[in-house]
Amino acid sequence: MSGFSARKEAGVTKSMHMGICVKGYLKKPLSEMKNVFFNNNTGEFLSTQEARDYLLDELSKGHLVIPIGQCPDWDYVHGCPGHVVENAGKEAQPC
Ligand SMILES: [Zn+2]
Repeated sequence: MSGFSARKEAGVTKSMHMGICVKGYLKKPLSEMKNVFFNNNTGEFLSTQEARDYLLDELSKGHLVIPIGQCPDWDYVHGCPGHVVENAGKEAQPC
């Protein structure tokens, strides 16, 4: 499942939704924003300038990390709090 991984923590396996560091992406060259973000309504990729505007918009709302995929408990500062799951998976990468 895309944007979804799991890690073990104190004997409990948690699944973690992955996120994008807004500030980290804004520091990248515009060329690296090509074909990364897309419009949820049209399904089309945002242009590099639209992607940058989108990230600046998120940052202005105080959103430091934005989710990849659907996380029901997403925290826009700390990311996914983790969800306890039955089956173990691969390690999650911190933001
Ligand atoms: Zn989550």
